[in-house]
Amino acid sequence: MNEPNEARASPSASRGSVSRRAALIGSAGAAVVGIAGIAAGIGVGSHEVPPAPGTVSSRQRFANKVVMITGGTSGIGRVAAIAFAREGAHVTLCGRREALGREVERGIGATGGTARYFRADVRVEADVQRFVEFTASQFGRLDVAFNNAGITRDGTMRKMSRVNWDQVLDTNLGGCFNMCKAAWEGMLARGFGRVVNIGSINGQAGQYGQVNYAAAKSGIHGFTKALAQEGAPKGITVNAIAPGYIDTDMVAAVPPEVLDKIKSRIPVGRLGKADEIARGVLFLVADDAGFVTGSTMSINGGQHMY
Ligand code: NDP
Repeated sequence: MNEPNEARASPSASRGSVSRRAALIGSAGAAVVGIAGIAAGIGVGSHEVPPAPGTVSSRQRFANKVVMITGGTSGIGRVAAIAFAREGAHVTLCGRREALGREVERGIGATGGTARYFRADVRVEADVQRFVEFTASQFGRLDVAFNNAGITRDGTMRKMSRVNWDQVLDTNLGGCFNMCKAAWEGMLARGFGRVVNIGSINGQAGQYGQVNYAAAKSGIHGFTKALAQEGAPKGITVNAIAPGYIDTDMVAAVPPEVLDKIKSRIPVGRLGKADEIARGVLFLVADDAGFVTGSTMSINGGQHMY
């Protein structure tokens, strides 16, 4: 992700370069992609991308579905916005970087899709409420909430400040609560909803230098299972995805020898791609997945199995 963190700033913060990089899981920075890149279907940086038909896909699984994405200005959220729009969804996305949000909006529009950016900080309950109201004003309702916004503020316990604890918990977990809270009544009233929350392999397995991030992401997994029980009888599914190492530009910038060590711990032998996470999100939201709820889909190349 784009946020600076202590582990990167302080080489002595952890056990070595590999460990420090490992502690950054979930912090992989995504490239800023120009409008031409989005129009071409490009999701992140130089990574391999799905083909670009120039118009939205003929496969319209989400035609007229209304999809809200937190953290759609970069990385996984951005790629998911493009993927949803390509399959016919009306997408609204939030994030704090308006220039990037507008770029996604214009880029999707240029391909014949529909997307609207709304500036909102997921830590602020009123912002998220306005984001939901904005979505309803644009498209009449809300079908899907993709809770993706997240940050890292890494550091060992000795260096972890209360501020960095709060920022990560407020964004990664509090933001998910704010979004679900704002969207829930409408989903209940309509008897339909799809919620997908982004957790992390490090919320499952823990990670050196990330008590804040691991706690927040572990919280996402518990939150998902609890809310799924409330939603199940009401036509609302709630699921999580736990990504492993995703190949964004930040990870790509890691020295080759360090990247090789990281990859050596991933059974499939490579990093994941943002669009591989997006595909998981789309699966969980599709009609085919109506019987899937309360689950955590691990997309990590086999790095953590249980
Ligand atoms: P990026 O930094 O590229 O994307 C993070 C997104 O979150 C940005 O769009 C950012 O928007 C948004 N965001 C952060 N803080 C806020 C806030 N307060 N309010 C609104 N939006 C916010 O990172 P990734 O795409 O890599 O990460 C996406 C999710 O995936 C995160 O939850 C991350 O923890 C998780 N993840 C990522 C992994 C990886 O290897 N990349 C691995 C495991 C999990 P803006 O800055 O404009 O506010």
